[in-house]
Amino acid sequence: MSQALDPVLQVALDVPLPRLFDYRGGAEIVPGSLVRVPFGKGVKTGVVVALATGSDQPADKLKAIEAVLAVPPLPADWLELCQFVSRYYQHPLGGVMSLALPPLLRQGKLPRRLKAKPTDGEPQAAPVQPDLLDEQAAAVAAITSPRDFAPFLLHGITGSGKTEVYLRAIATVLERGGQAMMLVPEIALTPQLEGRVAARFPQARIAIAHSGVADAGRTRGFLDAHAGHADIVLGTRLAVFMPLPRLRLIVIDEEHDGSFKQQEGLRYSARDVAVFRAKQRNVPIVLGSATPSLETFHHATSGRYRLLELTRRAVAEAPPTVRVVDTRREKLQDGMSAALLAAVSERLQRGEQSLIFLNRRGYAPVLACPACGWISGCRRCAANLVVHLADQRLRCHHCGLEAGIPRACPDCGNADIHPFGRGTQRLEAAIGERFPEARVLRIDRDSASTPAKWGALLDAIHDGSADILVGTQMLAKGHDFPKLTLVGVVGADAALFAADFRAPERLFAQLMQVGGRSGRAALAGEVLIQTEYPSHPLYQALIAHDYAAFAAAQLAEREQAGFPPYVFQALLRAEAKQLDDALAFLAAARESALALGGSVTLYDPVPMRLFRKMTLERAQLLVESASRPALQAFLASWVAGLYNRKAPRDLRWHVDVDPLEF
Ligand code: ADP
Ligand code: ZN
Ligand code: ZN
Repeated sequence: MSQALDPVLQVALDVPLPRLFDYRGGAEIVPGSLVRVPFGKGVKTGVVVALATGSDQPADKLKAIEAVLAVPPLPADWLELCQFVSRYYQHPLGGVMSLALPPLLRQGKLPRRLKAKPTDGEPQAAPVQPDLLDEQAAAVAAITSPRDFAPFLLHGITGSGKTEVYLRAIATVLERGGQAMMLVPEIALTPQLEGRVAARFPQARIAIAHSGVADAGRTRGFLDAHAGHADIVLGTRLAVFMPLPRLRLIVIDEEHDGSFKQQEGLRYSARDVAVFRAKQRNVPIVLGSATPSLETFHHATSGRYRLLELTRRAVAEAPPTVRVVDTRREKLQDGMSAALLAAVSERLQRGEQSLIFLNRRGYAPVLACPACGWISGCRRCAANLVVHLADQRLRCHHCGLEAGIPRACPDCGNADIHPFGRGTQRLEAAIGERFPEARVLRIDRDSASTPAKWGALLDAIHDGSADILVGTQMLAKGHDFPKLTLVGVVGADAALFAADFRAPERLFAQLMQVGGRSGRAALAGEVLIQTEYPSHPLYQALIAHDYAAFAAAQLAEREQAGFPPYVFQALLRAEAKQLDDALAFLAAARESALALGGSVTLYDPVPMRLFRKMTLERAQLLVESASRPALQAFLASWVAGLYNRKAPRDLRWHVDVDPLEF
């Protein structure tokens, strides 16, 4: 009898279908509750999204939930946030919620200890706060005066005191009884920042959320934030989903960083989701960067965001001197010019550090046979196997396939096969030979493969037990290297003419960042860029430290060419064993799109640049519109129809809204 009164629960489950599932449940269950439900032969965890009085399913088919998790129901604004993300990125709601939940809750478990350990009772020294510079003070005042939604771009070079501005704004928010959320890129930046935040707010409870935090800890942090106990949430992109009942401020540091966009599964941009969230919760949001994304800069110059600028360094006065080294008429030695080698020796004599920046790890990008033309290709990907001499392996950077280094050409037997091109390992070896007295340290994803190794490398740099660093962009971010006074850049030109229209934007940001590592203490810094295009506007803008000029030129080009931020894009990607199957699926999807109409441009399906990955052939179809709402409306009806489309069993497809990679 009571069964008839039990409400029907509409539950979001992590299955690849754009729908909710109905269950019977007790009258005490409210939207936001986490429930365990029977599904197929097993049990799944889901979120109750809504209650209904009836169901399309016959009453006797409706199953009852198995259990309700003993956590407070998630708030309405969290459900709404997930629903927005689901709609905007064309991803099933259950999948969004599963990603948004911390690991244990996702599995329907609770951490054994619910409360976070109280921090040790050691009395903390009163935090030292520098007096703010005028521009910093103005920025803090601007950010903390509005109590409503207000987006800010805080533009300032590395060392200009942006973090200090965030910390002051957060302090004000905490004094007013609010919670603050701060997102940083997915790199080993967090430990340093964690320490700085913890030292500044010894009384505050800080929930840390990034992939390096263990499952139980992350789950506790989530529950802490949800209960309103955590004052500050500090984390990487996934922290954007933390429930915060008293949220008053969002900070996105290094907002231009590509790692805010997830590149698999739910392809969301945490930065963009954060802006939605700030609007939804009616609170200010600060996007900070030395090299804002052109999307954000465009918003700031067109008046949608308020632009706050920090124009000088807070500590060291002069920014590094940037020079180009024209390599057109020079025979390079192991890829390095005489000018760069001389500059390195000078640093060695003075007991200062140098960094050679080369954004390519491994020894050489390919092994090749000059006799027959054989090259070391990956049999699973449309890519070459990279030579890793340090551990005597060939390795695919796309799928991880490994092989030994052959002694002779597998095709013709020629024993005289060579690595071609140059990666960090090769540069490290060459520098070691050239400067035998120097202590050379290589920093890339191979040498810093674990947080512990990365920490040890950073320590070595800090305590001065390295003279020359050879590194990738890993080194570019968020670290003070007081003895570093020279940055040499090699092999950067390729990005100037890359097919990806965002490559110059990325290169500019990387070089600004890597240059910003030098001369951060009392010592002046110098950046030498080796190039065959010394007068290229990108390098000229770097020499002049003129981000605005670079951005204006890039935006003009983008507008002319019809690229974002002047158009809005989405990709439909398909992968299958046979390229033809992927292309045929996309072609049929395109036909169905044409039938829908709408003011969007549909391009032809094409194989992706990396057209084979992990033995799957990949193709994509680009959709564009000058209007974001028009694109959104189109995607909603188009993608819904794709789920019903017949496709070969092995075919997978997904949608990437606002794609960063093509
Ligand atoms: P950013 O985040 O822009 O790189 P930070 O906030 O980390 O800059 O500041 C760079 C350095 O300058 C830090 O060591 C910081 O403590 C110091 N600093 C920041 N603001 C001031 C200030 N107003 N007076 C003195 N030192 C400052
Ligand atoms: Zn051969
Ligand atoms: Zn591969």
